[in-house]
Amino acid sequence: MKFAKNKWVEPGNPHTIGRFAPSPTGPLHLGSLYTALASFLQARSQQGRWLLRIDDLDTPRNIKGATDAILKTLEAFGLLWDDEVYYQSRHIDVYNGVISDLQRSGLIYPCTCSRKTLATDGGTDIYPGICRDRQAPPDEPHALRVKVDNRSIAFQDELQGLISHKLAEQDGDFIVKRKDNIIAYQFAVVIDDDLQHVNHIVRGYDLLDETPKQIYLQQLLGLSAPRYMHVPVIVDEQGYKLSKQTQATAVDLKAPQRVIFELLRLLKQNPPVELQQAPAADLLDWAIEHWNADLLKNAHAMSADFG
Ligand SMILES: [Zn+2]
Repeated sequence: MKFAKNKWVEPGNPHTIGRFAPSPTGPLHLGSLYTALASFLQARSQQGRWLLRIDDLDTPRNIKGATDAILKTLEAFGLLWDDEVYYQSRHIDVYNGVISDLQRSGLIYPCTCSRKTLATDGGTDIYPGICRDRQAPPDEPHALRVKVDNRSIAFQDELQGLISHKLAEQDGDFIVKRKDNIIAYQFAVVIDDDLQHVNHIVRGYDLLDETPKQIYLQQLLGLSAPRYMHVPVIVDEQGYKLSKQTQATAVDLKAPQRVIFELLRLLKQNPPVELQQAPAADLLDWAIEHWNADLLKNAHAMSADFG
């Protein structure tokens, strides 16, 4: 089955379109700014476009004012995006429409299994397909899962090399809509990337394991796969990924050039010392001109030693 393509875009647009897609669950911390900078540089170094998407579907986790804070931070750092900001929450009808189509085709089915049931039924992360062959639709709250098959999903990550994955053996049928009616990240992101014509995804290594599910959905929907580049994640001195959960502090807006200089160092771009005091805009110009993603090949994590 095919997911209707937008008609207003010329086919075969050769230009790079990248994106940054933060969740409004708190202010940007160093780790998220690192990924933003990498995707910005990758797009801009190819005269490409760089889009901004707010991943605001998980409403219980959203924090009031976080989106504004994120936009202000990106602006303060000179990471200026193209086009209007894309909010996932404004596309829920689109996601639900595609889910209904897949459900009618028998590729998506309701699942009433609780975490508890699954834990007692083997206790692995692979969904054992309990609800796959249910006949009558359930009259209780349920998640929706997409059926996977035995195909092998393989893709060439631009930094991490050839990734090959069998969903049937490693994940089982996975959730596309949660029991609380929230569209799963895996699903929304595939539709969003298509609607925004994103063709080059640069994001953190921690999302590498999710990529095969997204490629599988692209295949089901007849969408073309973007290129993927999974950059290392920033970890603290203990080796833990910086995240809102680990109380990573918001980046300091008062000295953007200092932060960008450090982030470029963490991206292994070796910015010249004489640029250490340069305005953020000059640093970014230098970085766009000299961007070399290959320096990050096979890197999974970079340790931050400041702030
Ligand atoms: Zn189930």
